[in-house]
Amino acid sequence: MKVIHLSAECYPIAKIGGLGDVAGALPKYLNQAGVEAVVVMPFYERKFVQQNEFDTVFRANTVMGDRPFYFEILKEKTGKLGFDLYIIKIPGLLDRTEVYGYDDDIERFVAFQLAFLDWMLWSGEKTDVIHCHDHQTGLVPFLLYYSYRYKSLSNIRTVFTIHNGQYHGAFNWQRSYYLPDIDPWKTGLLDWKNGINPLASAVRCADAFTTVSPSYLKELSISSNGLEFLFELEKSRGTGIINGIDTDVWNPKTDPMITQKYTPKTVAVKKIKNKQLLCKEFGLAYDKPLFTFIGRLVVEKGADLLPEIFRLMLSDPENPVSILVLGSGDAETELELSALKEAFPGQYNALIGYDEELAHRIYAGADFILMPSRVEPCGLNQLYALRYGTIPVVNSTGGLKDTVIDISETGGYGIRCPEPTADAVFTGIKRAIELFKNTVELQLLYRKIMALDFSWNRSAQEYIHLYQNLKPIS
Ligand code: ADP
Repeated sequence: MKVIHLSAECYPIAKIGGLGDVAGALPKYLNQAGVEAVVVMPFYERKFVQQNEFDTVFRANTVMGDRPFYFEILKEKTGKLGFDLYIIKIPGLLDRTEVYGYDDDIERFVAFQLAFLDWMLWSGEKTDVIHCHDHQTGLVPFLLYYSYRYKSLSNIRTVFTIHNGQYHGAFNWQRSYYLPDIDPWKTGLLDWKNGINPLASAVRCADAFTTVSPSYLKELSISSNGLEFLFELEKSRGTGIINGIDTDVWNPKTDPMITQKYTPKTVAVKKIKNKQLLCKEFGLAYDKPLFTFIGRLVVEKGADLLPEIFRLMLSDPENPVSILVLGSGDAETELELSALKEAFPGQYNALIGYDEELAHRIYAGADFILMPSRVEPCGLNQLYALRYGTIPVVNSTGGLKDTVIDISETGGYGIRCPEPTADAVFTGIKRAIELFKNTVELQLLYRKIMALDFSWNRSAQEYIHLYQNLKPIS
């Protein structure tokens, strides 16, 4: 069986968040399990493409509406990623430094999808399944089954995975001429609230859709930025499959990005050394519990709550703590989090930006990771943290609910807060600090959480089962 993963991100080529991690790991584990899995993604002007060699396997001219464009398909030469990687280069549209955030993102990703389908059509490239990820690839199922141009490809089965249901990539019907001629009886399958909505269309047109955790599938009917009714109607067709982690990349025993490597046996001694180095680098006291937040500074992640949570923590003389933040996002939150540095020197520090290596060092050195998310489709940070013996303090939502069991429950290993408010999270933090005081219990917990199995092996099997049972929607 062959599966093409179509994604806007893929680690280590271009990663903004969890989508990149999944697209860079799941195909590798599928290959190991005997499914031929490849990745197709856009060509961005980034380090990986500049530093690696590619063969041009296809080139063509095509059109998006009245706009002609040229594209090339490049294939990574060595296969060293554990899967074949194809990148689609569209000069003037995709070949930029950033993945998202341009005024013409709609045009960029429509062109990406058209180039992909044209390549499939004209090159004779074969596949059994196209697995689309998030709205940037959400028009593909519709175009495969209901456009005249790609009709000959309609025997290919499709899966659509929602990594983030808050973003839909919607655009106005006036731009429908970007798409090739479509069956006029089927245009409704593109529409949601009088616009073309790629996420909604993919949910309705793909043979199967998945979310990255079972709880998130349920929550989309309650909150999905206007698609609640759609998810209520379609949820019985959906499957929640929890993400795994790439245990080759995220392995404290071998991780080249951390100074002191460790295993569950050596964690008690080595983790503190990683913490000392990290605290020294950021001017923090290492004898206090070290709390961290890593991630996008957006409302979904509860990042707007952080300044208040941190003020509560840093003003509590009974429970001194150290705090380190790594993230970027909403300008106002960035400013507030930066301002705290001056107010609490030696206790608090923040690096506003994106730094993959530092993230690894923080997972290795921190005691607790805070995730006060309002929405969390799966969440990978808590899984990486557990693997590095860092205890998650999370709001009980989405994938966090599915992967973190509270220490008060049988088999528990993390701290769950009942709601995303500063007070509820601060209560959870106080529980964490109590835990920190009990060194024996803490060290046992380190070992326990490092041994938990969140690898891709299990989840990859669930995807294989899904691929094997795909049938066209009747
Ligand atoms: P989302 O995809 O919603 O952003 P996930 O928890 O699924 O959230 O994935 C986040 C991924 O991005 C993790 O691998 C995390 O370590 C990484 N990450 C997020 N922000 C940063 C940052 N500022 N620097 C380094 N890594 C980051």
